[in-house]
Amino acid sequence: MKLRWLFPGLVGAWLLLTSIASATTLQSWRFDSRQNQLELSTDEGVQPRARLLYNPTRLVIDLPGTKLGRPKQTEAVSGKFATLRVAQFDRETTRIVLELDRGYTLDPKQIRVRYNSARQWIVELPPAKFSPLLATSEILPSQDIEVPQAPVAANPPVTATGVQPTPVNPGLRLPRSLSTGPSTVPNGRRVVVIDPGHGGPDPGAVGIGGLRETDIVLDISQQVTSLLEQQGITVVLTRNGEYDLGLEPRVQMAERANATIFVSIHANAMPANRSDISGIETYYYNTGKQLAQVIHQTILEDTGARDRRVRQARFYVIRRTSMPAVLLEVGFVTGVEDAAQLSTPAYRSRMAAAIARGILRYLGQGG
Ligand SMILES: [Zn+2]
Repeated sequence: MKLRWLFPGLVGAWLLLTSIASATTLQSWRFDSRQNQLELSTDEGVQPRARLLYNPTRLVIDLPGTKLGRPKQTEAVSGKFATLRVAQFDRETTRIVLELDRGYTLDPKQIRVRYNSARQWIVELPPAKFSPLLATSEILPSQDIEVPQAPVAANPPVTATGVQPTPVNPGLRLPRSLSTGPSTVPNGRRVVVIDPGHGGPDPGAVGIGGLRETDIVLDISQQVTSLLEQQGITVVLTRNGEYDLGLEPRVQMAERANATIFVSIHANAMPANRSDISGIETYYYNTGKQLAQVIHQTILEDTGARDRRVRQARFYVIRRTSMPAVLLEVGFVTGVEDAAQLSTPAYRSRMAAAIARGILRYLGQGG
């Protein structure tokens, strides 16, 4: 642990080298609903990290230095658990997410992580409880779960120095590629502009069953606003009802407020014969790239939406604003999958919570 403080760069480079040289593979995983426990096995020793996130409650296990070697897997789980998802989270990390049915939660203090060996881990869970509080879309801080130190492997991977590196960073953090921290954002008052697209005579895209972009994005934007305000962020909502608002006034509002970031919220559309297309897209013009990546990644994690990537474009509101600015397309009103989701208040709340969490992550105010 001390090494990290003395030579953070060295340890980072060292870990990267060793993870490339000897990537561990996740071999199997299983949720045993009778014992209420999650079992994992890898081909080499691993030091997992675990935490509990809320809204909806989900247990997130990260396996650093581990490859999945196959596409994302999603399984339905019985009991009060909704799904088990396993995916390559970033180049170095396999992530396992066990998500509970909406409104159910776990006491993080009763979650016990143990091992049979450094290659076989078991997470014992308490019974899920219903909590009306959690059914609301409030943001609760995530809870780190204590994980015991993995036993030393019988044949540790050999590194340049011949020593097995000490696992770094046992508490879960944002991956390096996403971590921004306060350094990129000036200290002091943070002002976030939330800009619901269209409005009034301009409904935006109209999709399956008459689903209107303006209704979806106003609802989501209002919820994002109140979630951020609950966290002490100053928010400027460019429109708070159904009325006409041009593009230029939206930019002016952001400039006048001297906003820290600008987030425009839209829903997408395709021609009627492409109802098979669903997914989220996040646009930036120049300085909003990092903001786009963080929000996009958070939405993917929290909603299960399909990934249609972060993209660059010359939309007026992100081109003319001087602060980091993004335009989110929260799904296709013309897509069978997205339209079904976006027409439910529960999914819109989930989307709003994900956007808010992404913004807080970028501002360095939360995981
Ligand atoms: Zn739009």
